[in-house]
Parts: sequence; structure tokens; C-alpha cells
Amino acid sequence: MKEQRLSGVGVSPVSAVGTAVWYTPEPELADPPAPETVDTDTELDRFLTAKQTAKSELQDERERTAAAVGESEAEVFDAHIQFLEDPQIESGVESAVNSGCPAEHAASGTFAKFIEQFEEMSGQMAERADDLRDVRDRLIRILTNGERADLSSVPPDSVILAERLTPSDTAQLDPDRVAGFATVTGGRTSHAAIFARSLALPAVVGVGAELNTIEAESSVVVDGIAGTVINDPTTETQANVGGESVTIQADSVSTIDGRSIEVAANVGTSNDVQTATEYGADGVGLFRSEFLFLDRAEPPTEAEQYETYRSAIESFPDGRVVVRTLDVGGDKQIEYLDLPAEDNPFLGERGIRRSLGPDEDLFNTQLRALLRAARDADSGDLAVMLPLVSTVEEVTKAQSMIETVANAVETDSVDDNTGGRVETPEFGVMIETPASAFLAPELTEHIDFFSIGTNDLAQYVMAAERGNDRVKALGDYQQPAVIRAIDATVRAAEGTDTWVGMCGEMAGDPSMTELLIGIGLTELSMSAVSIPRVKTAVQTTSVSEAQALVENVREATTQDMITSLLNTE
Ligand code: PEP
Ligand code: MG
Repeated sequence: MKEQRLSGVGVSPVSAVGTAVWYTPEPELADPPAPETVDTDTELDRFLTAKQTAKSELQDERERTAAAVGESEAEVFDAHIQFLEDPQIESGVESAVNSGCPAEHAASGTFAKFIEQFEEMSGQMAERADDLRDVRDRLIRILTNGERADLSSVPPDSVILAERLTPSDTAQLDPDRVAGFATVTGGRTSHAAIFARSLALPAVVGVGAELNTIEAESSVVVDGIAGTVINDPTTETQANVGGESVTIQADSVSTIDGRSIEVAANVGTSNDVQTATEYGADGVGLFRSEFLFLDRAEPPTEAEQYETYRSAIESFPDGRVVVRTLDVGGDKQIEYLDLPAEDNPFLGERGIRRSLGPDEDLFNTQLRALLRAARDADSGDLAVMLPLVSTVEEVTKAQSMIETVANAVETDSVDDNTGGRVETPEFGVMIETPASAFLAPELTEHIDFFSIGTNDLAQYVMAAERGNDRVKALGDYQQPAVIRAIDATVRAAEGTDTWVGMCGEMAGDPSMTELLIGIGLTELSMSAVSIPRVKTAVQTTSVSEAQALVENVREATTQDMITSLLNTE
């Protein structure tokens, strides 16, 4: 039989083969009885009792997830409890019950309205619809005395196939039994994707309805690198799965001709920091600090942030941890921050614009936590980086705030005998907007480093929204205009003390390593699982050959020309 290849979004650069297990957790409801036969008080009581049971289940799952995966991943269950207790949900169910619906139908109908509202939004907000479905299904299962679908006891080497996986589902996945998973829906930033990366589990999401054609018990390959799911793979395909043997190298690496390149990790949680050390990261090139703020009811305190930053810094005693200050807005929404409704959130109040505006207090708290953590860390270095910079003033204003906070922390240190001068950390900006690339020569006078964020840079240079499949090819980092923006940034830093790194997805693509080294980048930061391959790619690169490649790429006027130059190398 011929193998069948389906494409989706690969969310973790690992692959595996296993046996298909279909997971269909959605409870089915029988038709409701006639409204006049429904006892309103009984149904309301049933709903309230189910709500209590759901809450205690969620609290248990929260604890289990915190222990097994990490505190940040566990926080999604706080968000579920919040949804569960939302007064709008309760009043919706109440009025449906009052109009003659049994509790389970009332819950189903009420949640459906909210799910629809979330689905109409874009980016991460749309993915929160999964959380609502999760809460709805839990309530309905409790109300209908349904069996709990159990993902934790599937046979070893199972490949889980599902319409979607909710956070509760993914929290149950046991990496010792589950070889990988693939889902019909879902995007790169869905919780399922984030869990897959944290657990280094092969995963492909957003495969589409064709996934349903794979039968249970079939042999399936999940290739999280290529983003493909292969049904009934040939023996040859199976033999090649995960065959690219990766060697984890704890030491830093250099090119054939001795240029040392820092290969660092992108992290968002303490658990990711741990994974980064396991994959041989030289440091952290991007700590997405907003992850500490997501999926919870209120911002983390200064003390919580201090602990997280300090332990991250100490995890790399000989390295550097670049913490990016809070980057919210765009597709990263945080309910308690009351972000404005904007027609074009990617062009609105996001990143540093919020930190110097409505979130100034949060920014100051974050800076205090960072500078105290750097002061007290037994080893390791902190660097602070600003997101979405587009003017010189943003940089000078943030810099003067950092200095003010550093002075205050230093004064406190003397008072509370924690001693020590507070060194202002290395200071850098992300190059994510065309404005910052154009201003790079002037910015070098104020900063120590640039880190190029190709995910946003490509979106803004090409005016092609990231995450919008219709303009995916246009927003590719191999577009000549994007590569020129990167080149211009590195050229602006030449001859200055500014070092230039990259923390967008392009940095984790080993087929780009030679080009990036040829352009002159000296630090590449990526998700931890990509580190071994990129370290190997660095060691097989010669700077002089890489520079010759860059000369040719500079002449290229189309993406096809660039792709073929990269492939012929
Ligand atoms: C980027 O834009 O390339 C980047 C690394 O930041 P984020 O993906 O978090 O927006
Ligand atoms: Mg970005």
C-alpha cells in the first residue's frame, strides 16, 4: 500500500513512528426532554454541584501538572477555574435552565456562544476557545456521569490523533507511552504545541480534515520538523524516522576556521530553562518573559519574578541569559491588562509601547526583579532586551528607567545589607520592525547588542501577518527583503562594540546557519530541541565560504533564487 503524506504545522523538531490511537473526548448529548418536564431547582443544583466537582478536579490536575511539567504550564488550569466561575457563564446557564433546559444542555448552549466569540478573534485569543471547550466538556461529562477519556494509559508508542487537544488532554500525555501527536486544528502557539515543545514530543497540528482518514491502529509517522504526518509509511520511511542522529554538545562551538558562535535557547518557563541546559544551550538568547504573565488571574509579583530570573541566570554559570521585557499586545493578549480593542493589534500598542505607557508600573516591577536577581545570582550574567522598538527615544527612555531602578536597588542593598554594587546589565533591543533596522546605526550608540526577531521582522517588512496562512510564503524569512534588513542591521553594527544575534525562528533552521554566519551574526537563539543540529551546522561551516554565499545572496532578487543558492551549497 502506498504511504499517505499529510501536511500540517510541525511544532517540535523531532519525529517518531507509532501506532494511531484516536482520541475523541467530546461528550455527546441526547435530545433534551420537553421543557415543561424539567425541574428548574433540581437542574440548577445539579449544575452547581457539577461546577464544584469540576473545580476540585481542576485543582488536582493543576497540582499534578506543576509537579510533572512545570509551574507555568500548570497555570492554564487557573484560567479554567476562572472560566468556570465566570458570572456570565453562570447567568447564561441559569437563564437556559429557567427556560426549561436540563443542566447539561444549558451548559452546552451557554459555552457555545462564548466559544464562538473567541473563535472569531485572531491569534492566541482564538486558541483560548480550546480552553472553553475543555471546561465545557468537563462539566458535561460530570453532569452525564460520563467516563473520563484516559490519555495517560494508552499503550506504549501510541501516536495520538485528535480533532484538537485541550490543555487538560496534553497535561495527561505520558512521554513514556506517547510517541507523538497530530491534530486536525491548532496553531503554533496553542497550548498543545507549547506542551509538545516543553516535552520534546513530536507533534504536528493544523493538519486539516484529511487527518480523519487515518484509521486507528495504523502505523503513523509524526514528523515535527517537516510538519508531516505519514500514514502507512514504507519500511524505508520508517527506518529514516528520527534517523538524523543528533549529538548533544554541552560545549560551545566554532566554525571550521575558528569563529566562535554562541548557540543559545529561547525559553518561556523555568521548565524550558531546564530543557535548554539538557540540549547543550550556551545560554538563553530570548527569555519570553510574557509567558510568566499568561494564563493567570493577575501579574506575577516582584518576588515570583525574582526567583524565576535568578534561577535562570544561575542555570548558566558561564553564560548569559537575555530576558526580553514584557511583550504583550498583538496576538499576545492578557485579560487582566485590559488591552484595548484595536483594528490592527499587530500595529497597535504592543511590546515596549505598552511598557513605556499603560504598563509602566509593571515594567518598573519587572526591572526591579531583574536587577535584584542579577545582583544576587551566584553566577551567570543577565542581559535585558526591549521588544518591538521603533524609535531611538524608546530606547533612551527605557535605558534611563533601568538606571533609575538600578540606583534604587543599590540604595536598598545598602539598607538591607544585601551589599553589592548593582551593575547595569548588558542592554539590547530586538530588531523586529523596519524602523529599528533603518535606525540600527544610531541605536548602536545606546545599546550593547541587537537580537533580530525574524518572526516579526518578516511580518512587518513584508506586510504579511504572521500566522495568516494565506500570506505564509510572502512572510518567509528567505524573502530577499527580509535578508536585506538582517544584512543592513549587521552592517550597521560593524566596527562598533555592538554584537548581533538572532532569536527568530530563522536562527533555529540549520539550513540557514551558513548564511547567518556569513552575514556576521555571532549568536543564534532557538527552541532547545533545535540546538544540537545548529551546533553541528556551525561546526561544518567555513566563514570564508559562508561570506561567498552571502555575496551571491545579496545579488538575488527573488525568494526562489535565494532558496536555490542555499540548496546548492
Ligand atoms: C520574533 O519576533 O522573531 C521573536 C523572537 O519574538 P516573538 O516570536 O516572541 O514575537
Ligand atoms: Mg517578536
